[in-house]
Amino acid sequence: MIDARRLLAAAAAAGTVLAVGVITVAATGGTSSAANTCGAGYVGLTYDDGPTGNTGTLLNTLRANGARATLFNIGQNVQSNPTGARSELSAGMWIGNHSWTHPHLIQLSQAQMQSELSQTQNAIRSTTGTAPRLFRPPYGETNATLKAVEASLGLTEVIWDVDSQDWNGASTAQIVQAAGRLTNGQVILMHDGIQNTVNAIPQIMANLNSRNLCPGAISPSTGRATAPAGGQPTTPPPRGTRR
Ligand code: ZN
Repeated sequence: MIDARRLLAAAAAAGTVLAVGVITVAATGGTSSAANTCGAGYVGLTYDDGPTGNTGTLLNTLRANGARATLFNIGQNVQSNPTGARSELSAGMWIGNHSWTHPHLIQLSQAQMQSELSQTQNAIRSTTGTAPRLFRPPYGETNATLKAVEASLGLTEVIWDVDSQDWNGASTAQIVQAAGRLTNGQVILMHDGIQNTVNAIPQIMANLNSRNLCPGAISPSTGRATAPAGGQPTTPPPRGTRR
């Protein structure tokens, strides 16, 4: 079993790119592989349910691999761990709303839905200075009433194209394999606070680099992954060539 973090640290210390079997781990301290121009487009890496006690490890690993991600935070976690939420923003991540208590929202009244979402908006705004534009319903469960509540708060609903199954005990290799199915514009579901998920990051980035894909932002207009505004200089993804 390869310890990805130790491997990464070794690669970073050497300032080189390590080849591990057939998998290349790019560890250049914040930049993607020089060959990757993002020409194949962007994918959305998402991590739900934070901030947690492990958010710092997640952020450090993302940064060490030059990855930016969208973190869908639980409102009450932001309230109890404001430092964690602020560190997400300062690490260059995007923050989305994931409800206040992580309930099955479609079993609640419209007023309860409104409370779950608006409390979280307020907590994230007061903690980080920015109100989210993106919302992910817990369990991916949605309906017309919830969509109306989202719209009233200016939120765009983001589900996912690929489920990493990290919440269901997926191994690091299985999480990497799931990310290997992502294509331009797509979004993958992962979670804060799961060690296999953190361990998968170097190999996920190596896989994306090998396919000329980059981790991007999720557009509030479309709910799809897109080039980050003000991000690294990149070639715009070809339109309509990959779906
Ligand atoms: Zn969740």
